[in-house]
Parts: sequence; structure tokens; C-alpha cells
Amino acid sequence: ETLDLVHLAESLLHDFNPPQQRPHPDFDRGRGMALVQVDRKKMAQAIGNVLSNAYKYSPQGGAVNVRIVNDLRDGQPIVGFEIRDHGIGMTPAQLARVSERFYRADASGTIPGTGLGMSIVKEIMELQGGQMHLESEHGQGTVVTLWLPEVTPSQSHSGWQNLT
Ligand code: ATP
Ligand code: MG
Repeated sequence: ETLDLVHLAESLLHDFNPPQQRPHPDFDRGRGMALVQVDRKKMAQAIGNVLSNAYKYSPQGGAVNVRIVNDLRDGQPIVGFEIRDHGIGMTPAQLARVSERFYRADASGTIPGTGLGMSIVKEIMELQGGQMHLESEHGQGTVVTLWLPEVTPSQSHSGWQNLT
């Protein structure tokens, strides 16, 4: 279905309860509207998995920042949902393995998890014609961006009626 990624982000962030009463993510709406063609539930799951990691892997606190970013890929507009944390981060070797099923970096230590969240995120993004992009610095934090092609209203089959 066609939906506005900014609107979806607002509604997911509104419903999101940060763990241990940590502050809500900051939200930068970018240009303010970005139409994408996605399955709402799958996209919500992908965003939820990344948000959960952002808090889980910043046990000493620190802000989680979310923003909508725009770029071009092969001349076509793309829109990204970017989630930035200031947590434990990963080494390049760990980062390279994040989307492997059951992979957990040593640094996660006592933090519970199964090692499946990011493999699911990658799969969801690729199924929807998008991609997951990661940057991380060990001891500094991590940035995950979920990229999707941006569609124009005329490319959308559902038109303007259905922008939830
Ligand atoms: P779950 O299946 O419950 O999500 P998980 O969080 O361990 O378990 P993934 O979300 O797939 O699994 O992440 C895989 C591993 O990548 C994590 O165990 C952690 O080591 C590392 N990782 C993921 N996100 C971050 C992050 N934001 N900062 C630091 N390390 C991360
Ligand atoms: Mg996880």
C-alpha cells in the first residue's frame, strides 16, 4: 500500500514506549512527507526491531535520534528512516555480521537477545525494494538507515485517499 513514511514514523513513535523510562527518540521529519509503497505491518516490525536495538545497546543512556532523510539512487528519489544511537557501537568485523541469523557481537555480553532482529529487518527491506544501511563506531554508537524508493502521488495506485 502507499503511505507517508513521515506519518507512519509519527504514529509508531507515538506508540513506542522506551525501556526503563528513557526519553523518547527525537524526531526530525525532514521534508515533512515521503510516499513509499510498503506493507505497513512489516515496516512497523522493521522499525521496531531497530529502535529496540538502539535502546538495548546504549545501556549507559544517551539520546536516540530518528530522522527522515532524502537522497537519490541512480537518479531516482529514495527516502530513509534513520535511527541513531550513542551506545556501545560495533567494530567493523562485528558490523559486517549483524544481519547474519543468530549472530550476536561479544560486546552484547549480558544484554539478552536471539540475534534475529536485524536479519529480519534486512529481509523485510529487501522484500519491499529497499535496503538496510549500517554505520557504527565501536564505543561511539550506531546509525541504521532503512531506505525505500520514494513514489510520487501519480505513481501510487491508491491515490490520495489512502495516506495513513
Ligand atoms: P533480537 O533477535 O532479540 O533482536 P539481538 O538484538 O541480539 O536479538 P539483532 O537485533 O539481530 O539481534 O542484532 C545482532 C547483534 O548486532 C546484536 O546482538 C548486537 O551485538 C549487534 N547490534 C545490533 N544493533 C546494535 C546497536 N544499535 N548497537 C550495537 N550493537 C548492535
Ligand atoms: Mg535486536
